[in-house]
Amino acid sequence: MSSDIVVWEWLEDNGLFFAYEPKTSNEIEKASNSHSTVSVDVRHMRYVIDPNTKQQTNRDTGMTRQIRRTVLPCTSAFARGLKWEWQDHRPWRPYAAELVEEIDEAHQRGDNTLNLSLKHADMPYEIDFRNMTQVNIQTHYWRSIRTQHLSGSYASNVTTLPSSVPSPSSSLSKSAQSFAGPSQASVAPQSGSVIGASSQPMRRKSVAWKDCPHGGISSSANSQTQNVSVSEAMSLHTQKVENGSTEVCAVCQNNLDQQSGFGNGTDVVELNKCKHTFHLECIEATYSHGVKGGCIVCPYCNTLHGIKTGDQPAGTMTYSRSHYSLPGYQGHGTIEIQYNIPSGTQYSEHPHPGQQFTTPGFPRRAYVPDSDEGRSILFLLVEAWKRRLIFTVGRSTTTGADNVVTWSSVHHKTSNNSHGSHGYPDPTYLERVRSELETVGVSDDWQ
Ligand SMILES: [Zn+2]
Ligand SMILES: [Zn+2]
Repeated sequence: MSSDIVVWEWLEDNGLFFAYEPKTSNEIEKASNSHSTVSVDVRHMRYVIDPNTKQQTNRDTGMTRQIRRTVLPCTSAFARGLKWEWQDHRPWRPYAAELVEEIDEAHQRGDNTLNLSLKHADMPYEIDFRNMTQVNIQTHYWRSIRTQHLSGSYASNVTTLPSSVPSPSSSLSKSAQSFAGPSQASVAPQSGSVIGASSQPMRRKSVAWKDCPHGGISSSANSQTQNVSVSEAMSLHTQKVENGSTEVCAVCQNNLDQQSGFGNGTDVVELNKCKHTFHLECIEATYSHGVKGGCIVCPYCNTLHGIKTGDQPAGTMTYSRSHYSLPGYQGHGTIEIQYNIPSGTQYSEHPHPGQQFTTPGFPRRAYVPDSDEGRSILFLLVEAWKRRLIFTVGRSTTTGADNVVTWSSVHHKTSNNSHGSHGYPDPTYLERVRSELETVGVSDDWQ
């Protein structure tokens, strides 16, 4: 009756794979067998899943994630119709697929506890099955855990396709990245998923500070933006309007009832959110000039339409806490953030595709106080990093050197003591950086 099952999983930013629900997983398996793609809804988000290129694309944002197909034995938790979850502030969240099996095995053996940190150095948790909790070994903070029945069951592994439990791609990602060069990475069949994979796996469940290991976490940014075509971006964020207006187009300065300065089109569109109007060709030109990640920034009022992403090259962000107080924040510790980006070859979205870029001054360090406000800024910075908004490639305004990785528009405090504008005290810094982050679309309600 029971047989091996097929479970499709997606890769989260924390380097762990999570299982799709059986219904979705089975749809993906079906699409895989017929070499087609499938549209699915997961928690109100719409995705297109291509099992052949192993990619999940968010239909609204264009963001892609790597997916994979695993075959699990009939004795596994998933095959027995069970899942394991832990509780965040409100919702229950699934454990990563690989942890589900580890937890389930220990539970089946009748163990009282399971110390996850023995196998995963960066997961300082002990699970206690007697009271169904997960305790942070360092902070003693605990959360409830539970096991639940899956709705539906996973498809049996009846096809003769080779099971594609992926080999660790960390070594691949570096080489794929350096070969990506000026051409689009998505042309190569494998590279999309490989590049999307974290170059340095990290294990993090949530950004809740109580769960953050004191040693710091790392986060890898995707190394290249998935292009969203001009026409797709236009259809997502603009609407055609009558072009009878005599107003001036803020892009080309021609009247809207005349031709666009970027061609001879007279079509006029309105941006969905801010309602400002432009020549269609002018908005298309503006979009094509930037990082084509699916976000249109209104040339008139800077309102973001879609999620803004940048062109920051691949690298890692880590942070750690210390008891030392920053000037102006006595009584609080300090969070030191470290960014590391290795030098490499510019991608198509950079100023000089194919040329080298260098990373002078890296690893770069920045400091925020370990206060409520400072920690909330830290979490916003993590999000900005994931959206590749912290650094950019271009000419340094301080040294004049070209083809270097430089800070983007979000200011950092690179000194942990009185050091002019780069250090503390600076009573309004956190407020300023919060508004800089908001300008690029990263705010507390980003989720
Ligand atoms: Zn115009
Ligand atoms: Zn506007």
